[in-house]
Amino acid sequence: MSQSELIERLKAYDPTIDEDLLNKAFAFSIKVHGAQLRESGDPYFSHPIEVASILIDMKLDCYSVITGLLHDTVEDTVVTLEEIETLFGAEIARLVNGVTKLSKLELQSEETRQAENFRKLVIAMSSDIRVLLVKLADRLHNMRTLHHVIAPEKRRRIARETMEIYVPLAERMGIQGIKNELEDLGFSVLNPEMHESIKGRLGFLHKSSESTIDTIITDLNRVTQEAGLSCLVSGRVKTPYSIWEKMQKKNVTFEQLSDIMAFRILVDTVADCYQALGIMHSQYHLVPGRFKDYISTPKANDYRSLHTTLIGPLNHRIEVQIRTNEMHQVSELGVAAHWEYKKSGPLRDGKQYVWLRSLLDILDQTSGPEEFLEHTKLEMFQDQVFCFTPKGELIPLPKDATPVDFAYAIHSGIGDRTVGAKINGRQMPLRTKLQNGDQVEIITVKNQCPSPTWERFVVTGKARARIRRFVRSQQREQFGELGKSLLQKTCVKEGLVYSEKNFSAALKHFHYPFIADLFASVGEGIHTAKEVIAVAYPTKSEDKQKNKAETKPAESFVNAKTPGKVPVCINGLIPGMAMHFAGCCHPLPGDKIIGVITTGKGVTIHTHDCEGLSLSIDPDRVLDLSWQENTDDENLHVGRLKVIFLNKAGSLASMTAAISKLQSNLINLKITHRTAEFWDLLVDVEVKSAEHLQNIEAALRSIPVINYVARI
Ligand code: MN
Repeated sequence: MSQSELIERLKAYDPTIDEDLLNKAFAFSIKVHGAQLRESGDPYFSHPIEVASILIDMKLDCYSVITGLLHDTVEDTVVTLEEIETLFGAEIARLVNGVTKLSKLELQSEETRQAENFRKLVIAMSSDIRVLLVKLADRLHNMRTLHHVIAPEKRRRIARETMEIYVPLAERMGIQGIKNELEDLGFSVLNPEMHESIKGRLGFLHKSSESTIDTIITDLNRVTQEAGLSCLVSGRVKTPYSIWEKMQKKNVTFEQLSDIMAFRILVDTVADCYQALGIMHSQYHLVPGRFKDYISTPKANDYRSLHTTLIGPLNHRIEVQIRTNEMHQVSELGVAAHWEYKKSGPLRDGKQYVWLRSLLDILDQTSGPEEFLEHTKLEMFQDQVFCFTPKGELIPLPKDATPVDFAYAIHSGIGDRTVGAKINGRQMPLRTKLQNGDQVEIITVKNQCPSPTWERFVVTGKARARIRRFVRSQQREQFGELGKSLLQKTCVKEGLVYSEKNFSAALKHFHYPFIADLFASVGEGIHTAKEVIAVAYPTKSEDKQKNKAETKPAESFVNAKTPGKVPVCINGLIPGMAMHFAGCCHPLPGDKIIGVITTGKGVTIHTHDCEGLSLSIDPDRVLDLSWQENTDDENLHVGRLKVIFLNKAGSLASMTAAISKLQSNLINLKITHRTAEFWDLLVDVEVKSAEHLQNIEAALRSIPVINYVARI
């Protein structure tokens, strides 16, 4: 294929092409592929030129053809994408980049059993339909020259990939011509004996009835002419693959297969189609059950035609397809045909390509082919991302999915034990949003638990449900523990002997199936310990009930009934659990904090270095907590300062003025030591955070009469 020939063929259907750019691409491709050779021994650049030629057969635009010429330069030579952009502009660079990405993807997928997902990935990664069409042309030429590839395993792998990925893509885009050729080439590699056998028999049949097809064509022409219908009749023997497919589907032998010849009648209008059908059915016997009307009900890829099977002239069973010229163009060129029709006239209806729906919406609204190209972004599967496991398995996930979603999608056990993730070999945060084609490796540790914080960024229902379930069960366990110790303590107070047997009556009374549920309900504050004990020990507590009938209900430390008071600003707390800030250290937002589960008190929050904390605390009772960042927490906390100042008139006033200037309130003041010269004070102020308190400290230190300020 010479350069000028290529350009002439392209000009024949698009006179507006940029000839200089095309020539430049031609020369550039030959130059950079240089002395590289194909496995066939041909110079490498013959391949991009053939790909460009296929794209011209498909009547694609000039940019697609240039992309075909350049499609392997970035992948296989030293050329960079930046150079392509400088020389050929941003749009061609974008298209070449798209094809290069798809080529890299191919190397990644040894495993094709997940073909459907892989096809979706290919579509999702082809931001522009032309990327996909160039890729198809590339694959078609590679398949045509596959017999030159020496390693049989490699040949089979490429053929299998073609059958599973590219044949269905060509079919869905309605490109019948390429679909048939890819299919037959793939079949000849994957099942060479069968291919040869069918071909041999077809050849024999063809020879023995060389004139059969011609005779039938003549007869079909005669009957249509007699009826006054102008049409074009053609006939062919079906491809080995389609015959083999039929033999498999219908479970018949080659000898039993009668309709191996197919005839096509092309007419001008839809009305002509039905007229031609009427002629066929009145002139020949039809085989019942074989008539299909794909004009009134087009296939998903917009294939439209009438199919029928007849006992034709010479008493052969023949398949006849009847369609308009336009329908035929669409069936051969698929999506590419729309360039053509857009130029010559408006589309009849907007129903083409159901699976390319969004593409067509754009098509209907745009005015010219250029605009159509510009807006032809494939939006299929844009709400999904497809990622690989280290073994090459493809996992489909919703858009914005994170490694945690990925882990749960593989197996819930893996999700539960996740501690980290590597994306494309690099350790990344678990909240990272995954991209198409990412390879994700999940790092797990035994006995690890899901973190409640994950719930904020996971997007899959499965991950969310598992995390919630875990948090609920953990919460219930802790409420249970708290409830049990509340009951034990109350028993001791009331002089009762604590025994779990006694609570069976209470279970019935409060409608709980298990004692753990009862404990949890007490811990959560649904019932007070006293209420439960009153039911569990009815006789012993009766007297006391009488005496104390008027007293307030048992003091509950549990906050569940006033959820508004539970600070939502602390990470690691169980919602609904009783909590309060320790009086010894007055923790403030910004401080490092821990929680201590205390019997009868819920969780007490201390600063992590609080001196008031006993060293003998059971580590199981300690919770790791932290303040949430950037919350709109307007709650005020108490900060306590020790202040020493000179006993002078106005000293106290200057201190309170400084505090209120910083938007804080002085809420308590205690003189701990007083001499003639100095006063020692404990000052409680309301502050928003540790930082706020630090500002107050600094302000107080700047007052001349104040000698000493320190947080306690
Ligand atoms: Mn290539």
